[in-house]
Amino acid sequence: MPLDIGFGIMLSLATAHLFSVPTTPSFIALGVIFALLPDVDMLWYLASRSTYHDHRTYPHYPLVWVPIIALVYFFAGPIICTLLLLCIAMHLIHDTIGLGWGIAWLWPFSKRRFQFLAPKKEPREHWVIAYYFRPTPVAFIEYGVFLVGLCALYAHIKGAL
Ligand SMILES: [Zn+2]
Repeated sequence: MPLDIGFGIMLSLATAHLFSVPTTPSFIALGVIFALLPDVDMLWYLASRSTYHDHRTYPHYPLVWVPIIALVYFFAGPIICTLLLLCIAMHLIHDTIGLGWGIAWLWPFSKRRFQFLAPKKEPREHWVIAYYFRPTPVAFIEYGVFLVGLCALYAHIKGAL
């Protein structure tokens, strides 16, 4: 999740640069929201206080986003659509690598999940604690990308980027 926020910031900056539009705080916030959007299905699992981690349902199926992105293009135009496309693609690629739950890239034709570099063992404690509050490689990558995103934003505000 911190990684998604970091990428959301960087993709907002990149999209604004690509289309030569001003980088407003609301545009950055939109990128962060877009980057986190597929994890909306996680809220139910966290609310249930279950240690069961499998929150990757419909918002994590790539094909679900095709009509949504087309509608965003139609109603909001190419800039917002590009930001959404980049953020969703980044999120789904990120969820394919690491953490071990994978993405069903071929849904609805197959529910097989594709995943790379998954942890070898399931954590014994709640996965949020295991992955975000322990000094694990996953945590270093997550918070590292988050910090890079903040640094990119800071550099942009200072006019260096
Ligand atoms: Zn996700």
